[in-house]
Amino acid sequence: MNIINRRTFVKKTAAFSSLPICCLLETNVLPSFSPKATAAKISLTEARHYEKLPYKKIRCKLCPRECVIDDLERGYCGVRENRDGIYYTLVHSRPCSAHIDPIEKKPLFHFLPGTQAFSIATVGCNVECKFCQNWEISQMRPEQAQSFDLPPESVAQIAAERNCSSIAYTYTEPVIFEEYMYDCAVEGRKRGVQSVMISNGYINKIPMEELCDVLDAVKIDLKAFRQKFYTELVAGELQPVLDTLILLQRKKMWYEIVYLIIPTKNDDPQEIRDMCRWIAKDLSPDVPVHFSRFYPQYRLKNISPTPTSTLTRAREIALAEGLHYVYIGNVAGHQAESTFCPQCGMVLIHRIGYRILANKITNGTCPNCRFKIAGKWN
Ligand code: SF4
Repeated sequence: MNIINRRTFVKKTAAFSSLPICCLLETNVLPSFSPKATAAKISLTEARHYEKLPYKKIRCKLCPRECVIDDLERGYCGVRENRDGIYYTLVHSRPCSAHIDPIEKKPLFHFLPGTQAFSIATVGCNVECKFCQNWEISQMRPEQAQSFDLPPESVAQIAAERNCSSIAYTYTEPVIFEEYMYDCAVEGRKRGVQSVMISNGYINKIPMEELCDVLDAVKIDLKAFRQKFYTELVAGELQPVLDTLILLQRKKMWYEIVYLIIPTKNDDPQEIRDMCRWIAKDLSPDVPVHFSRFYPQYRLKNISPTPTSTLTRAREIALAEGLHYVYIGNVAGHQAESTFCPQCGMVLIHRIGYRILANKITNGTCPNCRFKIAGKWN
């Protein structure tokens, strides 16, 4: 269990409450919906993936931690609680964040380019990355943050009304609000709105298989290709993430991989080569890989931003290992934000940041050489 002392609690809570509805529902972009923020409110919905143990204990089966939890205790993620031998999620229908973002921001570059995603998150996470960009909400407990009552039907309705092609489960770790994500995806489908999961991939096989039935795309943060990194900087494990990627490939789910390169931590060319070789061989050369630039964050403020040369070298390694679509992220205006045809080299989607200046992909192919470009384009 992740325990914080009183000083940290007060500091974190103060930091959060001082923000103008920090990362919360922006009513100006949602004119037809007037959410009421309620501080420190939880909901109780029975969890779907757990088993009952003697003496009112339970074992959570949602993620590889498989927390064993006594009555009136919570799991590591802090958003699931055992009450009298029944395990509950405390965050179903209680997002703390909601925005409309370009799908390119997730980033998903081969999935409905140029469309908008209604993006939601609850508090909580099942790991603790020392470089987390959203630690103010990912490391919170439900009582520490404002949240809104937003049931799945409303999420889907807002997305449809605002012409969002998808609902994105993002910002924190959607694995820990799996039931809410699943229900939103079902409601979205009824209204023709797709669903994308932006995740660390640290989830057990059975819940991920079930999610594959209702999701349309997934982005996985593969944070390193060495267990040492996961132990020291993530508080998680590498192998379950690789297993999730293999499962997504087997299920024919559309997915993309982001690898945040942190200088001295996961930038060894051999590690990057090993990863790319594994992706090409065990997954597919068609999986887009985004090498993303690190900026000092959270508990990793003593490391400088990633040099562009490191990102360029990683991209060269990936292309040499046979990957077809390799991007560089968080470097404004870099040409590797665009999509190139792997066969003839033509620029197919010209991007600057999250903006698309031109999209030449025609019926899923390169208009110049007819090479089939992997992705979901319509
Ligand atoms: S989802 Fe939360 S409670 Fe369940 S195993 Fe993972 S960290 Fe533990």
